[in-house]
Amino acid sequence: MDPLEIQSINLSRLLREGGTAESRGEMQGAIHAGEERFELDGRTLWKTSVTALGDGEFWLSGEIAGKVVMECARCLEPTPAAVRAYFQHMLRYEPGRDQVELIEEDEEEIYLFGHPDLDLSPFLCEAYITAMPFTVLCKEDCKGLCPVCGANRNVLDCGHEPAHGSGQLAGLRRLLDEV
Ligand SMILES: [Zn+2]
Ligand SMILES: [Zn+2]
Repeated sequence: MDPLEIQSINLSRLLREGGTAESRGEMQGAIHAGEERFELDGRTLWKTSVTALGDGEFWLSGEIAGKVVMECARCLEPTPAAVRAYFQHMLRYEPGRDQVELIEEDEEEIYLFGHPDLDLSPFLCEAYITAMPFTVLCKEDCKGLCPVCGANRNVLDCGHEPAHGSGQLAGLRRLLDEV
């Protein structure tokens, strides 16, 4: 995610008066998770709702949706994949705390935070990355790469015969041959 973009919600009012606060925003560019970087395609929109439960506790729920650029599993071409994720978390305000920390209490996961300006990025990124598909295809009948010369068979007919056929159908045929 671009460091210039701020994805946060201010909970000062909720801490004073209780109630619910909503926020929405969008992300562009990329989402980061540790060393990994996931390129976003177009706008990724998010919205969250935070409800005060009393005693400094809050219920956070949200949704994030957009497209991430992945590699086609067969031809490796960049392929946008739709992602939509929902998340819900229990939060507890502990003034003075530097970083958000996840603890477990009575078999319940609680995120502790120390500033009324709650950074939503970790919640948004985690939900988004968890919801990403494992693999995508650029198209249902992607022909993939030639195992002999590496050509993208969707754009180039290199003339090489696939050694064992390709795709699921060939796999099935192979299986039938062996029977
Ligand atoms: Zn492909
Ligand atoms: Zn080839």
